Amino acid sequence: MAHCRNCGNHLLFRYHFTIAKVCEQCGYVVSLDPLDKSLYKPEPVPDEYCLDLIHKTVSLKKTQGIVTGRLRYFYTEGYLNKWPLCFEGKHLWICESMGHYFMLMPSVAGRFPKDLEVEDTVTHEGVSYSVDAIHQALGYSMEGELPDFDTYFSEFSSIECSNDKQILIIHQDAQGAQIFFTGMDITFNEIISILR
Ligand SMILES: [Zn+2]
Repeated sequence: MAHCRNCGNHLLFRYHFTIAKVCEQCGYVVSLDPLDKSLYKPEPVPDEYCLDLIHKTVSLKKTQGIVTGRLRYFYTEGYLNKWPLCFEGKHLWICESMGHYFMLMPSVAGRFPKDLEVEDTVTHEGVSYSVDAIHQALGYSMEGELPDFDTYFSEFSSIECSNDKQILIIHQDAQGAQIFFTGMDITFNEIISILR
């Protein structure tokens, strides 16, 4: 439970570890990181989404969840949409990039060389992947409530790796700090089928 530092609005949090939330009343970002005292209004979100999942209810493996927010990263080429899906205080991300849909879960930390290149092979948790693409993120826009999201981490490279079953995505900042996500491809129809 917390209050907006800008307008005092009472804020409810769904996740055990919500990192940031856009205040419904004033539109400012409230970070729950005690070290982050910044107060800012995010860029308005462009409304050109082919599929808007925010606030949608989702049913997955007999558990009901809700999409609590939306992040959109702008890359030098293209973009990445990420919607956090809240299940009993835990979360996963539904993602879309250039019409390609996938799901990502936070993964255990790893440590890869800072200078990975496309076609390199990497091993994470005993599984090997090849590096398919490296994108440079230039900025982002955000809405709603976001778990597992570092508001300092606005400029980074997204290192996209896969094998024939799984996806591994690493967000790496200029200092080489890395955040790991693993997941799998999902089709547009599969997303539609879990929406209620
Ligand atoms: Zn507010």
